[in-house]
Amino acid sequence: MVMTTFEEKIQTPRFKVDAIPHIVVHAEVCHTCSVRACVYVCPANLFVPLDDGGILFNYEECFECGTCYIACNEEGAIEWSYPRGGYGVTFREA
Ligand code: SF4
Ligand code: SF4
Repeated sequence: MVMTTFEEKIQTPRFKVDAIPHIVVHAEVCHTCSVRACVYVCPANLFVPLDDGGILFNYEECFECGTCYIACNEEGAIEWSYPRGGYGVTFREA
């Protein structure tokens, strides 16, 4: 069996975007966060720090790894769930 690394898998993701976000970031919490771990841990670089202290987040190209939820555990700004069935990321064509 040929093993595929995570790095290889994330080269060719496909996304079926749901209109309902599966991750919600409560930006009012981000204004008081000095760590901003989400910016550094997200492998898809979906968290962008803003000059006003807020965070810009787009869920559309999320890899569904859950890392941001764990990294933001103390601050608790992130509501996380998987996308509804049929939506989200696919790393390989069936
Ligand atoms: S770690 Fe959490 S609270 Fe801090 S900026 Fe990121 S999402 Fe906001
Ligand atoms: S689940 Fe993973 S890929 Fe998606 S936003 Fe969080 S850290 Fe980024």
